[in-house]
Amino acid sequence: MKTQLALPITKVQNSRLPETDFSNLVFGRTISDHMFVADYKNGEWTDLRIEPYGPLSINPANATLHYGQSIFEGMKAYRNDEGKILVFRANANWKRLNESADRMCMPELPEEIFMEGLAQLVDLDRDWVPKAKGASLYVRPFMFATDDYIGVKPSDTYKFIILTCPVGNYYSKPVSVKVETTFTRATEGGTGAAKTAGNYAASLYPARQAQKAGYDQLLWTDGKSHSKIEESGTMNIMFKINGTLITAPTNTGTILKGITRDSVIQLAKDWNEPLEERFLTVSELETALQNGTIEEAFGTGTAATIAHVQRINVNGKDYLLPNKSDDAFSHRVLAELDGIKYGSIADTHDWIISI
Ligand code: PMP
Repeated sequence: MKTQLALPITKVQNSRLPETDFSNLVFGRTISDHMFVADYKNGEWTDLRIEPYGPLSINPANATLHYGQSIFEGMKAYRNDEGKILVFRANANWKRLNESADRMCMPELPEEIFMEGLAQLVDLDRDWVPKAKGASLYVRPFMFATDDYIGVKPSDTYKFIILTCPVGNYYSKPVSVKVETTFTRATEGGTGAAKTAGNYAASLYPARQAQKAGYDQLLWTDGKSHSKIEESGTMNIMFKINGTLITAPTNTGTILKGITRDSVIQLAKDWNEPLEERFLTVSELETALQNGTIEEAFGTGTAATIAHVQRINVNGKDYLLPNKSDDAFSHRVLAELDGIKYGSIADTHDWIISI
């Protein structure tokens, strides 16, 4: 990517790289040396800069702390064999950030600021991109309100920041999930399609209940009737039943438009796999588990790419899914996406930017 914006860069005096144990990375705990920051005031983004990662000073009247005008994104960068850093689908994250911003009455962030901030930050901290196979640099862009005002209204000022964190090989062990029919993640007309902080805060309690009962994650159902499957934890969910892939549509405003979901759908279309974007009902799922027509269930998301589901609880009863053969769709699609992300498979969809 060509660099166009001349960003002021303040470098750390002492990098934390030498004291970082890359063989023992816990997701989200290790933050790289620098961050990209931009401030929004008087109706425009100003003061774009890269500076050392460090604490911000926040007034206790900060609007985000009270009313939660806060949105974020998540994506990954990968090191290829030639030492280039490949970022997967950053443009889609930029678009989704602005969709979230619109829903939360926050300002649009121009593409150039997002992409240049990202590219220059990742370039500066390129030594933080892990070298181990399967490891990557997690990129966390986020925006939040900065008015010091205790009154409920959209803030007039905001901060946009990009942090990066080296993360290890995220192999997701097969997960157990429980169909949730009491609590609700999102309702039509709500904020489910926005990647906003409050959605995650609200999901913590039901997720903890499920974990106490021995499940890794919930299978969220629709808020009105709890009869249709929506998402799983912080992943979109796909099923393969009777040879057809089924995943919930994203036009109800209740489901996050996952970028992994979109990538999997595009590959499924390339491969002419039968695919339906429609709601699977809880009773259809129960029948498919009972009569053995379900072949695969898997979550899709940036953290794990593909998380295989091995056990599903429906209406209080546990069902085990069949073991997958090596040519199962979820294995093939994971291998293809990994190949594209690390540069060993051609990027025919223009998903990669190289830094
Ligand atoms: N749903 C929710 C609620 C999520 O938080 C995420 C993670 N961003 C996803 C789905 C998957 O989205 P993506 O593939 O873009 O990571």
